[in-house]
Amino acid sequence: MSNQTIELINSYTETTYEERKAPASPLKMPTHWPASLFIAGVHIASLAAFFTFSWKALILCVVFHWITGGLGITLGYHRLLTHRSLKVPKAVEYFLALCGSLACQGGPVSWVTAHRMHHAYSDKEGDPHSPRKGFFWSHMGWCLVSNKEIESPEVQARLAPDLVRDRGMVFLNNTHILWTILLAIGLYAWGGWSFVVWGVFLRLVLVYHCTWFVNSAAHIWGYRTYKATDDSTNCWWVALLTYGEGWHNNHHAFQYSAKHGLQWWEFDTTYMMIQFLRFFGLAEAIKLPSARLLTEKSN
Ligand SMILES: [Zn+2]
Ligand SMILES: [Zn+2]
Repeated sequence: MSNQTIELINSYTETTYEERKAPASPLKMPTHWPASLFIAGVHIASLAAFFTFSWKALILCVVFHWITGGLGITLGYHRLLTHRSLKVPKAVEYFLALCGSLACQGGPVSWVTAHRMHHAYSDKEGDPHSPRKGFFWSHMGWCLVSNKEIESPEVQARLAPDLVRDRGMVFLNNTHILWTILLAIGLYAWGGWSFVVWGVFLRLVLVYHCTWFVNSAAHIWGYRTYKATDDSTNCWWVALLTYGEGWHNNHHAFQYSAKHGLQWWEFDTTYMMIQFLRFFGLAEAIKLPSARLLTEKSN
């Protein structure tokens, strides 16, 4: 990626851009029926877990939670694609984006657009999911309505130009639900309904709420180590549920940093994964905040 593109991404995520219009209030936004019915359907289907338990299904659920929530959303969609905190070979980038697609939180283009928008307007007018509009809104309400800005091709081209230009990412964006359907068929063939319920439905519900707690809880509860112009907090239990994403005040203070857990007790398994990839020559240009900046931004 060119330096110009990286500068462009930083200009959107590190500053606010001013020429935007005020968005509609949450209550005026129309319901996004396909997303709402999908999310409701997955929650209802996950209740079948009570009747389909097996130890193998439980292990499958935990492993796919890590593959889709940890490798896919946290490492792939967030630290790699949204913030470009590290570089990996293109094949690894697509693999991680595919894992992210399996979390059914949207394709890489729309996810990255929404998240860069969150950083551009954190807890201000224009933030797609600030808890200043209510806990439920920030947690999942914003996923149930149609946000014309996130879905607009013009806004996607402005906030995620690097992804819009990448034909592989656009393909994944257009086909992201298909991969979950294929996974469900594969799991049914392997272990029957028990594997589908635990490996897809229950796992999706768990990954949803873990990710959503970053937007809700980690902007409300916890401590603030660094100066940030928003309400972001470091919340230990969110960090445990999200492979290190709960150190969210650190993240808002140093958005480009590949490492979110900046104190010795701030356990960040995704950064361990990044070091693991680097050991095998699969990650480079790993960005970290300088000692000077850490001191300057300290509360
Ligand atoms: Zn945030
Ligand atoms: Zn971020």
